[in-house]
Amino acid sequence: MDRERLSQLKRELKTKLTELEKILEPAFESSPVFPGVVTTSKHRCGNPGCACTREGKLHEAVRVLIKFKDGYATRSLDEEQLASFEPRTDAYRSLRKARGSLGKWQKTVVGLLDQIERERRSLQGLSEEDRKRPLR
Ligand SMILES: [Zn+2]
Repeated sequence: MDRERLSQLKRELKTKLTELEKILEPAFESSPVFPGVVTTSKHRCGNPGCACTREGKLHEAVRVLIKFKDGYATRSLDEEQLASFEPRTDAYRSLRKARGSLGKWQKTVVGLLDQIERERRSLQGLSEEDRKRPLR
């Protein structure tokens, strides 16, 4: 057993524990969420007399992409609706991000656990013959 290596692995594991608390923070909040994405697109209406054509002041269209179980839908939002939807889609994004980060976190921690197990392995009591066989 390489004590130095084992200490290093344990330090990494501790770091991961702190990281986990950070990753899960959004899950401890209580603000409402909504499964969607708010997008803003700029466009020209095509009217030759409009400011978008004459001065390049493009029209802004704010929409929410709604994630239904059976597919996506887009709905236009006025300012009041935007103010209502945006905090919820933001909170939703934070939660989803936490979910994704947790997957990566888990992979790393499983890797660390495997390394720790290997470092702590002891072949004490095994016969010469058994020592030659690779362990799982
Ligand atoms: Zn226009």
